[in-house]
Amino acid sequence: MQEEYNKLYTIITGSKKNVVITTHRGPDGDAMGSSLALYHLLKKLEHNVQIITPNDYAYFLHWLPGNKDVIIYEESKEKCKKITEKADLIFFMDFNNIDRIADYKECVRNLSSTKILIDHHQDPDYSIADLVFSDTKSSSTAELLYKIINVLNLNHLIDIDISECLYTGILTDTGSFKYNSTTSNTHKIISDLIERGVNHSRIHDLIYDNSTIDKMRLLGYCLKNKLQTYEENNSAIISLNHEELKRFNFKKGDTEGIINYALAIKGIIFAAFIVEKDGIVKLSLRSKGNFKVNEIAKKYFNGGGHINASGGVSQLSVKETIKKLEKIINKLKIK
Ligand code: 5GP
Ligand code: MN
Repeated sequence: MQEEYNKLYTIITGSKKNVVITTHRGPDGDAMGSSLALYHLLKKLEHNVQIITPNDYAYFLHWLPGNKDVIIYEESKEKCKKITEKADLIFFMDFNNIDRIADYKECVRNLSSTKILIDHHQDPDYSIADLVFSDTKSSSTAELLYKIINVLNLNHLIDIDISECLYTGILTDTGSFKYNSTTSNTHKIISDLIERGVNHSRIHDLIYDNSTIDKMRLLGYCLKNKLQTYEENNSAIISLNHEELKRFNFKKGDTEGIINYALAIKGIIFAAFIVEKDGIVKLSLRSKGNFKVNEIAKKYFNGGGHINASGGVSQLSVKETIKKLEKIINKLKIK
């Protein structure tokens, strides 16, 4: 790893470069937090930096410092293509499989720019980057980035903007510090970020206590009308189709977190959330303990992720996807 660190140090502390930072489709708090933290760091090192996300993301992340400078591929394809072609360096943040950036992958393909991957997901595809920083034990890409900044002895550059972005990535990817991936070191990092001025109550409020009434009503509807449990298999499914999203004036971010309520039921160790969005049927899978949802995502839904949190897509309708999942649940006899 030391050789990779040396290379990265030389690249980012050297001459001014055109840099693009990108992250996975449907960017979450860690995707945006780690990308924006890196953005601020590289700006301080006087590079010319642009974040490009494949598509839009939840409104409760729009307060992040630097958010106004982010551009979205789906909304400005030509502009993003041109900027990407001029990049000397491209950072892949919080993903390790090129399909995760959807159509934007066509822009980064066949470019001679140096590609650097920073990620914490399982099974990295090393072939997509020239330099790979992969740590599947890190709670979040933000935590891994914090470690990298420290190994490179650049921690004097961590200002309040970078601190807030890193805090947000770690907060959201650890489920507010409750997942197994949270370690004493995670808390040490959080302690350092708070000492650097992060107002943690404000950030929790901006992310979790900032819901619209529509979002709350959609949650209520899911729990009352759409939650199916399979108690003999300790499983639960919640699903939403396009018409239901429309009925509740769906905005990006409104369905985030709903799956956690299914997993909060006593005895449930496997939960799935199925949603039809933009013509795609998307699945979120969550589990407790040793039940590996990333294996289900990979085998049946062309996806992946972590042992206890993964996702994928289905080519079937919502109804047919539920049936397919019910068969999987019955077959696996989840205990
Ligand atoms: P979520 O359910 O919140 O969308 O995603 C949970 C986890 O699974 C995240 O770590 C995310 O990166 C991963 N994930 C979600 N969707 C996909 C997918 O389509 N493919 C892969 N490989 N991973 C996914
Ligand atoms: Mn992450």
